[in-house]
Amino acid sequence: MAYFDHNATTPLSRAARAAWIEASEDAWQNPSGPYRAGARVRNRLEAGRERLGDFLACPGESLVFTSGATEGNNALFAWLARRAGPEDRVLLSAVEHPSVREAAMRWFPGRTEFIPVDRDGAVDPEAVRRELRRKRPGLVSVMAANNETGVVQPFETLAALCREAGVWFHCDAAQWIGKMPAARLEGCDFVTGSAHKFGGPKGVGFLRVPVSADDFQGQVGGEQEHRRRAGTENYPAIAAMVAALEEREVAGFADVDERIARRAAFESRLAEAVPGVRIAGTGKERLWNTVSIIVPRHRNHRWVMKLDREGFAVSTGSACSSGDEAPSPVLAAMGYGVEEARRAVRVSAGTETGEADWSGLGEAFARVWRTWEDRGTDSSLTEVVSI
Ligand code: PMP
Repeated sequence: MAYFDHNATTPLSRAARAAWIEASEDAWQNPSGPYRAGARVRNRLEAGRERLGDFLACPGESLVFTSGATEGNNALFAWLARRAGPEDRVLLSAVEHPSVREAAMRWFPGRTEFIPVDRDGAVDPEAVRRELRRKRPGLVSVMAANNETGVVQPFETLAALCREAGVWFHCDAAQWIGKMPAARLEGCDFVTGSAHKFGGPKGVGFLRVPVSADDFQGQVGGEQEHRRRAGTENYPAIAAMVAALEEREVAGFADVDERIARRAAFESRLAEAVPGVRIAGTGKERLWNTVSIIVPRHRNHRWVMKLDREGFAVSTGSACSSGDEAPSPVLAAMGYGVEEARRAVRVSAGTETGEADWSGLGEAFARVWRTWEDRGTDSSLTEVVSI
């Protein structure tokens, strides 16, 4: 089975697995324990925080370990709402992950505003500049790269604009980290990350908070994480997360052009084999691993099923809600209609995906299309009408 759903989750890397086993065997004690073994785990935990800070180009002390990006995003808006005034609003891009969008709307009801995206799914920094001038928001939140389309947002420009205006900037970087250099997030005030998106284990992540936000608290009921997140730290998972990121950062990102070329070859083959196919976001920079395909005919679920039988695991628009029949708000924000969004198939490669996997996937799309073509269009027409 060739796995093309890395934006949903990645396999545990060897380095992460080794770090997890080592820490589970040798550093399993509670880091708050009042004996030397506890202090040793505490020191290792703090060393891990510093190491993560090195990759993210931020002070280690600004990092709070969490259970993942969903927790980080929720905790951020819940905390912000507690300290915000009744008029304070938050400004989000129209393509944020539900864990940003719904958390913001829950904690800032009627005060969550959206920055539109263009047809390619990107925010225009000028629109943010205008908003910053119009009425200062309490926070601007724009993701680094989109989980459905891979479209990269101008987050560095936006972070600089917000800094100039004295407004906090949050970046959900769950899809960026591990695929592109984490240090490019340096200018952001808040950053959310999730280990299982870059070869780490599930259920661990982090939230960067500015050192100036010294009253940040995501969970109460304990002194852990410098009182910012109560609960016994999952050191083995944290060690594995840091090891996974270290592996990606040390390997570097010099092969990104090569990876983009492999994807481009797949996209050309796809366009040739499946007439009328479209790819979302091609006018903008996209992560090297993601392709959001609007197939010309049939609901995405049918394509996913057929490709699965061909030995390829791909997803519908957003894996986080693949059982959910509602079409993607991301594609809607980009101007796609409901019926088009229901034809979105998402392909997302990983670091281990090679040329043969990409070309195999292109051929699988071609074969699936041919089986329908050979049977004529009658059955498919019925299906389009019944959407
Ligand atoms: N933000 C983005 C952009 C994501 O892609 C995801 C995972 N789909 C999340 C947040 C949530 O991450 P997790 O499920 O690990 O909490």
